[in-house]
Amino acid sequence: PCFVEKFKVIVDGSEIAKRLPDYPWIIVDLTFWNRHIPKEKDKVALQLRETYAVVRRMYYPRRFAITWVNEEFKKKNKVPLEKVVSYEGSTADFLREKGINRVVLLDPNAEEVLSREDLQERAFIIGGIVDMKGDKKGTTAKIGEVLEKEGIDVLRRKIVLRGDIVGVPDRINHIAEILLRMLYGEDMEKAILAVQ
Ligand code: SAM
Repeated sequence: PCFVEKFKVIVDGSEIAKRLPDYPWIIVDLTFWNRHIPKEKDKVALQLRETYAVVRRMYYPRRFAITWVNEEFKKKNKVPLEKVVSYEGSTADFLREKGINRVVLLDPNAEEVLSREDLQERAFIIGGIVDMKGDKKGTTAKIGEVLEKEGIDVLRRKIVLRGDIVGVPDRINHIAEILLRMLYGEDMEKAILAVQ
């Protein structure tokens, strides 16, 4: 698995360990912030704090971006925004700035399962979405539609446990940790079981 190997060299090699890799980016997209009730917004903020902790423990906060950052989010926010990339514009603009024209969108309603090949992409998007009211089914796919309209190729991919999304924790921070574990070469099943 070429990407994983290259990545390990960067992380484990003592001299080059200090070098920040250019990719991959882990992006949490807040497009649907305003579709949440206040309690859900609090949960989004809390899950982003936990996502920051995961990225800091396992990867590089400087390669963690939060897009569509707005004033209300900033008030509820618990992430040290100066240590990550806090982007007030659209995800498409962020990607263009970085020269990225294809992304993996982690989406529980995708047809295809996230594969080892997909792990070589330069950016992975997780929806900044919390479901308490149960009225947001299909919203992640809409993030993808917006990106496609902006000319970005979107690979919609799901994470499954024995073929099903049931049993996969859907919190933003858990999805980020499963993704990071897979980027380091862990199998999907093992990664899911490790965060449960
Ligand atoms: N209600 C949303 C929907 O139907 O699109 C799902 C929201 S989920 C609570 C929050 C985010 O976690 C999603 O936007 C997605 O990026 C990610 N996610 C959750 N479960 C996933 C899975 N099984 N596979 C891939 N991504 C997942």
